[in-house]
Amino acid sequence: MEFIVRVEARLAGRVVKTCDVATIARPGVVMGGEELGLSLEDGKEIVRELQSRMIAVQVEMLEAANTLCVHCGRRKHIKDRRPRQFRTVFGAVRVRCRRFIFCTCRGGNARNEWPLRHLSRSSTTPELRYILAKFGNDMPYRRAAQLLTELLPLPNGSVSHTTVRRHTLLVGERFDQRALDPDEYDWPECQREPALPARRVTVAIDGTYIRAGLDSWNRQLHVIAGRIDRDGQLGSHFAWIAGDSVASSHMKALLEGQGCNSNSMVAVLADGADGLGGIVRRVIPQTPRTILDWFHVSMRLRHIEQMGPSMIELFPDVEALGKLSRLRHKMWNGQWRGALLRMRDCYHGTGLVPTTVTSFHAERVKRFRRHLIDLFDYLISNQQNLTNYGKARRDGLRISSAPAESGMNHLVNQRMGKRQPMRWSAEGAHLLLQVRCAVLDHRLEVLFREWFPRFRATPPITSALAA
Ligand SMILES: [Zn+2]
Repeated sequence: MEFIVRVEARLAGRVVKTCDVATIARPGVVMGGEELGLSLEDGKEIVRELQSRMIAVQVEMLEAANTLCVHCGRRKHIKDRRPRQFRTVFGAVRVRCRRFIFCTCRGGNARNEWPLRHLSRSSTTPELRYILAKFGNDMPYRRAAQLLTELLPLPNGSVSHTTVRRHTLLVGERFDQRALDPDEYDWPECQREPALPARRVTVAIDGTYIRAGLDSWNRQLHVIAGRIDRDGQLGSHFAWIAGDSVASSHMKALLEGQGCNSNSMVAVLADGADGLGGIVRRVIPQTPRTILDWFHVSMRLRHIEQMGPSMIELFPDVEALGKLSRLRHKMWNGQWRGALLRMRDCYHGTGLVPTTVTSFHAERVKRFRRHLIDLFDYLISNQQNLTNYGKARRDGLRISSAPAESGMNHLVNQRMGKRQPMRWSAEGAHLLLQVRCAVLDHRLEVLFREWFPRFRATPPITSALAA
């Protein structure tokens, strides 16, 4: 039995071209599931053929549309035929198209005209560029290349890890340029709406480290990442490699992009320890309010709380331990003096470990006291940035960068964290981070549409089954 796949091209209802795409042979009576339907390889072969036939017809039509001069209607002279290759998601397609000589009926020079010149600056179609960047964003470049080659009808060796990397970073570069030189980037076709002025902007900012390349003088790269909150609405993620002056210009562009101006109230939510708030302070005229991120206080407190019950068992007479569960409440409501005193009492109360206690428990007591000291020092050294978190929250302020934290996990750790075997160059990491932010904020497709206005905006196909 033979199945014929045939394509028919119609223009205004009239058939312009018909061609057979593939013939699939199967036994008249199938013996096993492996003979049912198309295999992956069959499917790849069919879409590859279909793609190349379709593009050939499209190029033919483009050539036909350019044959006559639009002004005098005379046939243009033909210069030659030139080949061109398009790399698409369904394989590389080679076409040939005529070059015409520009008709001078309205003056001007007799220059060459090539209908394919304006089609696309790059030989890689926007769709393939998107897919490469999307996969390069999601997984290690080498795995992305393997997966794409396995599933798509791409010629062997045409998509390597360097191809995926190059395209991912190209997109990152594009976003970088978009953020830093909006004037350069905006062209008439681009539909970008100006940001409305923001009343209140909160920048949640945090840092982490990734492994640096062997050629780097530093063994790790410092990543700054976070998220912007605009008038109570969570906005875009951001991430850069720290240590270059670029961070300041990025922060400035980011704040402006979110509608932050000299009248906006700006707050910075930071861990305090790393002084990242300084980046915001440097780029705006007003002095931002810095708030010690509740998330970091809460995380440190949790260690202590978790050990609380076992400490009460070991030290039943220490009164302060019994009130340990109220510590969080005190801190949340800005009763810092009381909280610190209670922590001090807990520390002193657990100083003398009973001799009957096993070494395992003695070790736990030691850990508990270390956590207490750590939190105590942390709060003291950041005391000017402490606040009444409960009240701030009731006033509608953001007081925890938990979103920034989970952003950090999504942005950096999953793809670039220490568990990944990759080493990063500062530039490669920075550009990939720009793509990761865009994907996390669901902006990748929107940004592609700014770049290619009809990207994924072609009419949906009419399936014969639905008809
Ligand atoms: Zn003419």
